[in-house]
Amino acid sequence: MKSLKISDKVLGLTTVADEKLKDIYNDLENIALMNSAKVLKAFKENKVSTMHLGYTTGYGYDDAGRDIIEKVYSDIFKAEDALVRIQFVNGTHAISNVFFANLRQGDELVYITGTPYDTLHTSIGIGKTLNSQSLIANGVKFNTIDLINENEFDVDKITNYLKNNKVKMIAIQRSKGYAFRKTMSIEDISNIVKEIRKVDKEVIIMVDNCYGEFVEEKEPIEVGVNVCVGSLIKNIGGGLCNTGAYIVGDKEIVTNCSERLTCPGIGKECGTTLDQNKNMLQGLFIAPNVVKDTLKSMIFSSFIAENLGFECMPKYNDKRSDIVQTIKFGNKEDLIKFIQGIQSASPIDSHVTAFPWAMPGYEDEVIMAAGNFVQGASIELSADSPIREPYVAYMQGGITYPTAKLAIMIAISNMLED
Ligand SMILES: *Cc1c(COP(=O)(O)O)cnc(C)c1O
Repeated sequence: MKSLKISDKVLGLTTVADEKLKDIYNDLENIALMNSAKVLKAFKENKVSTMHLGYTTGYGYDDAGRDIIEKVYSDIFKAEDALVRIQFVNGTHAISNVFFANLRQGDELVYITGTPYDTLHTSIGIGKTLNSQSLIANGVKFNTIDLINENEFDVDKITNYLKNNKVKMIAIQRSKGYAFRKTMSIEDISNIVKEIRKVDKEVIIMVDNCYGEFVEEKEPIEVGVNVCVGSLIKNIGGGLCNTGAYIVGDKEIVTNCSERLTCPGIGKECGTTLDQNKNMLQGLFIAPNVVKDTLKSMIFSSFIAENLGFECMPKYNDKRSDIVQTIKFGNKEDLIKFIQGIQSASPIDSHVTAFPWAMPGYEDEVIMAAGNFVQGASIELSADSPIREPYVAYMQGGITYPTAKLAIMIAISNMLED
């Protein structure tokens, strides 16, 4: 421990944490068991076999692995259909795909969790740089309804809006993104879906499920959502997927998405898998446990940070619905030292020092720790932060609890130095 520059103070706090967090960790074991059961059942019922670990090249016709993966995803999410593809370059691509595939000129999209995740702005047409291909440029109307009291749906405003306007799609972002707010839980989503259905039976309800998979026992489709989307280099890829994203939901919606990803007439029939079927299946198989280890790591970090007087969201003992941990450092020096500490404890590029830099597209300088096996994979321990008040670090991931715990111990020690 000394050779890894972990201070006595942090070792002491770790002993307290290990004792205090036992019950919380135990609850997580139960959720992981339930979700593992869900996954195992889907593997058994679909008779996943050795041949499904193989792959096609070229057009990717009759890719048995790809087809079985989409069946397994449908079962796990209780959805009619699924599109799980390496041809999605990231989560933003898959979310945009749902919009472009299902919204036409004159249709309206309303985000009821306030402003969407930053990377979607240009695609929707609300970014600083106008883009002639955006949703709005294509004649789709867009609106947002903000959350109230920090993280509650504005039920009255939403239902009144639906009574007075013909809305085609409602979007809900489950995770907080770069906002300092709570995450929408499955229960929150369930309640708002019921309210929406009282006034509008037709509107398509979409959930951006990024960072949410396997954190709770249920997923959004089970509480009445029509379509749900996420990235394979986050939770559900289990740290083994090299790229890709998924869309699960109603058959017609998923079909539209497939014809937008490829083209009309091709849909789901093409799309090579380039030796990723095994990673997708094995990653999915271990994902409930990986998510559990990540949650333990985030809870550990918030316990230690709170004990040192830093405000955390969520707090260590709050109910969670995503894997993101925010820690408010309140000063630039501590923030930078913490992020540099995380980088120094990464498996890849531990010798590289992270510094704030002017990243294209961001207003403030950003500092990032991402010493990962898969570029940008945030199911691996990663932390980043815009250099601006109140100096908040956004941290997530940690495929194994021991390695992520060590990294957090090292990062805190680095921060407390001198
Ligand atoms: C990660 C994420 C996305 C998609 O981001 P990509 O980097 O494009 O995969 C969208 N919404 C939320 C809330 C996210 O966390």
